[in-house]
Amino acid sequence: MQNVSDTRGRPLRDLRISVTDRCNFRCTYCMPKEAFGGDFAFMPRSELLHYGEIGSIVKAAVPLGVRKLRLTGGEPLLRKDLDWLIKGLKAIDGIEDIALTTNGSLLPQKAQELAEAGLDRVTVSLDALDDETFRAMNDVKFPVARVLEGIDAAIAAGLTPIKVNTVVKRGQNDDQVVALARHFRDKPVILRFIEYMDVGTQNGWRLEDVVPSGELFQRIAAELPLEPVAPNYEGEVARRFRFADGVGEIGFISSVTKPFCSTCHRARLSAEGKLYTCLFATEGHDLKSLIRDEDADVARLSEHLATLWVARDDRYSEIRSDDTRDLPKVEMSYIGG
Ligand code: SF4
Repeated sequence: MQNVSDTRGRPLRDLRISVTDRCNFRCTYCMPKEAFGGDFAFMPRSELLHYGEIGSIVKAAVPLGVRKLRLTGGEPLLRKDLDWLIKGLKAIDGIEDIALTTNGSLLPQKAQELAEAGLDRVTVSLDALDDETFRAMNDVKFPVARVLEGIDAAIAAGLTPIKVNTVVKRGQNDDQVVALARHFRDKPVILRFIEYMDVGTQNGWRLEDVVPSGELFQRIAAELPLEPVAPNYEGEVARRFRFADGVGEIGFISSVTKPFCSTCHRARLSAEGKLYTCLFATEGHDLKSLIRDEDADVARLSEHLATLWVARDDRYSEIRSDDTRDLPKVEMSYIGG
């Protein structure tokens, strides 16, 4: 098998792996309580891919070009023995980097064991420094202090630089951006502001609730001058800036106002083994039955993955419009951001 490219010439490089659809937060832009309430039917454990099956899919993806893995959820740290999975994935030839996206709530307990298992990087979601605002956005009244404690634990475990992601929603937390920038810029943390997106079907997304990155840039630069920084690699989603006084870096992820589909080389695997070729996809491709029912080996899985990728033509953010808003898009909590 050889590296594959899709219909727009985009190679497959990153595989984002959701290990659970469960989360202990109910962030209003991702998993609103109204839709994911106490009686919501999450996937039974038997439906989840075993760690060995995830390993087989990763082994099948490496010959096609996958080099970087990101573990996501829901909240991935809710899944037991994640360090065991990381050790297994780290041992796969060709995998260069393993990252994890988390809400940070369990990092104080887990950061050290994740680092010892071979995790390279961690991204923590934190949408405000003001406790009231944060508790309102995660909707489970989880305090900021515990997430900051988690970030400190990740720094102490050497998972640096830590990336901190803030989803900005107008009228909810956009008053927090300068304070967040000031708080993190002298730490081994890269803060990224994410434009609020119409992911899934449940968050009641409206364009007027989006604060364009350009506007955020102006707000921050007015107090803390910024200079552009070259991307680390082609296809990096965040546009990077350093503070002109040399202290710290921030980024902007602008899926709404500056789509980056043309260099998108990410595939996503749901916890029950469906492959999605876009964050805003309406359907996934079942890999689990190939493994469990047809006993497919790695080579067969690789062929199947190649077929799926070369047929890919996703570019949702480029075609986003009133007509696309109500598409039955997969929930972000199901495939990870
Ligand atoms: S909208 Fe889809 S194709 Fe575009 S950058 Fe996001 S995941 Fe990639």
